Amino acid sequence: MNPPEEVTLNSAAGILTLRWSATRTISLRGAVLRAACPCAACRQVRLSGRTVDVPQDVTLLDVQPVGRYGLQLAFADGHRRGIYPWSYLEGLGA
Ligand SMILES: [Zn+2]
Repeated sequence: MNPPEEVTLNSAAGILTLRWSATRTISLRGAVLRAACPCAACRQVRLSGRTVDVPQDVTLLDVQPVGRYGLQLAFADGHRRGIYPWSYLEGLGA
């Protein structure tokens, strides 16, 4: 999957927006992204049938590209291990 043309973090609103084209744009809240963190530890929690314990007001602090693969996201609760592939992010916004 190709990277979006544009990745925008609106820190004030706590919204991450990914834009592939005018008709293919998604916006995601920090808490949604944090709860869906794909790191091994968070994945293990979800696989065991529990939900990842996330403060509802957790904000997204930083976004780092990981090659052409996706984004590494850093959250206000100190968690920054998740690497989110583009297709996974698009699925969260669907
Ligand atoms: Zn995680």
